[in-house]
Amino acid sequence: MRITSVELKNFRNYSQLYQDFYPGAQILYGNNAQGKTNILEAIYLCTCARSHRTGRDAELVQQGKSDYDVRVKFVTDKNLEEEIRIHYLMPVSNDPLRTRPIRHIYYNGVRLERVSDMMGIFNAVIFAPEDLQIIKDGPSARRRFLDLLISQIYPSYFRDISQYQHLLIQRNNLLKKLRQKNANTEVNNSYNLHLQVWDEQIARCATRIIMRRQKVTDEICRLANDSILQIAGAKEKLSIRYRSSVSIANTMDAEEFNHIFLNRLQEQTNDDIIRGNTSVGPHRDDLILSLNEIEVRPYASQGQQRSVALALKLAELLLLRQKTGENPVLLLDDVMSELDSDRRYRLLQTIEGHQSFLTCTDLSQVLIDSDKESLSGFVGEYNLFEVNQAHITRVDTIFK
Ligand code: ATP
Ligand code: MG
Repeated sequence: MRITSVELKNFRNYSQLYQDFYPGAQILYGNNAQGKTNILEAIYLCTCARSHRTGRDAELVQQGKSDYDVRVKFVTDKNLEEEIRIHYLMPVSNDPLRTRPIRHIYYNGVRLERVSDMMGIFNAVIFAPEDLQIIKDGPSARRRFLDLLISQIYPSYFRDISQYQHLLIQRNNLLKKLRQKNANTEVNNSYNLHLQVWDEQIARCATRIIMRRQKVTDEICRLANDSILQIAGAKEKLSIRYRSSVSIANTMDAEEFNHIFLNRLQEQTNDDIIRGNTSVGPHRDDLILSLNEIEVRPYASQGQQRSVALALKLAELLLLRQKTGENPVLLLDDVMSELDSDRRYRLLQTIEGHQSFLTCTDLSQVLIDSDKESLSGFVGEYNLFEVNQAHITRVDTIFK
C-alpha cells in the first residue's frame, strides 16, 4: 500500500498540515526539532491508534490545544483508495460532555466502534531509535512488540488481548476482596465460585493468546535470522524463544494447554489471594533473545543490540507482507545515520518495492556514497521534502 496524503490538525508542533506523498521513497530532511519524526509518528498512529513514542495521547495534542486530528489517505496494492482518521479530544474542565478523553476512529468516513476494528486496515512498519527498547526494556516492551505485530495480521487477536485484560482486572479485584481478613466463610465460598467462573474464561482466552504468540515467535525467529545475516552480515545465530509462565510444548493442542493452564491458575490461587493479583498468564510472559546462546539483553554489545532490533523489525516487515499480501509502508526515523554504508546499501535494497518515509538531518546520510546518482539507483523513485518549523516544502529532486 502507499500513502497519497497526510493531514494534521493540532498534532505535536503542527497546527495545520496537508501534504501529498508519492510512490517510492519520501525523504524528509531538516534540522533537529522541526517536525520530521512527528510526521512518521502520525502515520504510524493510523496503524494501531498508538504512538511508537508514547502511550499518552494527551502528549500528541499541540500544547495549548484540546484535540488532535490525523488523516492518512492511502491506496492499497489492490488499488482501493482508503482513509483512516483519528480524532482525539482531551477532557475539558467545565464541559459536562468532555469529562473523559474521547477518541474517534474513522475508516473511510465511518466511525469504528472499537480500536480492534482498525487493526490490519493500514499497515506500516516503523524503524526508530525507540526500537532498542524492545531489547533493553522490561518484558512489557517485548510483549507490546509481539501483540501489535500479531494484531495487524490477526485482528481477532487484539480482541483476545482486550478481553484478557478485562478479565484479569475482574479476577484481581476479586482476589483483593478475598484477601480482606474480615471476609467471612460464607462470603468466601461465593467468591470462590465467582473465581472459578473467571478462571475458566481467562484460561480459554490465555490459551488462544499464548498459542498464537508461540507460533508467531517461531516465524519471527526464522525471518529475523535471515535478516540479521543479510543486513548486518552477522554470523551469530539468533534465537528467539517465547517464555510462558505456564510452559507449553509445541506438540500440545489447545484443549490440552487450556487444561494445564487452568490447573496452574488454580494451584496459584492461594498465593494470588495473598498478593492480590494474578501471578501466571500472558501478562507475565516474555521473549528471550539470544545470540549464540548468550542472552542479548544483559550481555550483547550496543552494536549487536542494534542489529538484533533491526532484524526483529525486518522480520516484522517480512511477516506482515507474507500474511497480508500487502506491502506495508515503511517509516525509517533516523536509522540511516547509525549504519555504515554497507549496511545502508543492504537496508535500502530490502525496502525497495515499498513506499518509504526516511528522515535525516543531512541528505548525505541517505546517500550511499558521494555519487549522488546512486540514491535513485537503489530505491527507485524518490522525493525530497524539506521540513522547517512544521512546514513541509517539496524540493525539486536535484539529484535526478
Ligand atoms: P530530530 O532531528 O531532532 O529528531 P525532528 O524534526 O524529528 O527532530 P520532532 O520530534 O518531529 O523533531 O519534534 C519537533 C518539535 O515538536 C520539537 O521542537 C518538540 O518540542 C515539538 N513538540 C513535541 N510535542 C509537542 C506538542 N504536544 N505540542 C507542541 N510542540 C510539540
Ligand atoms: Mg526526529
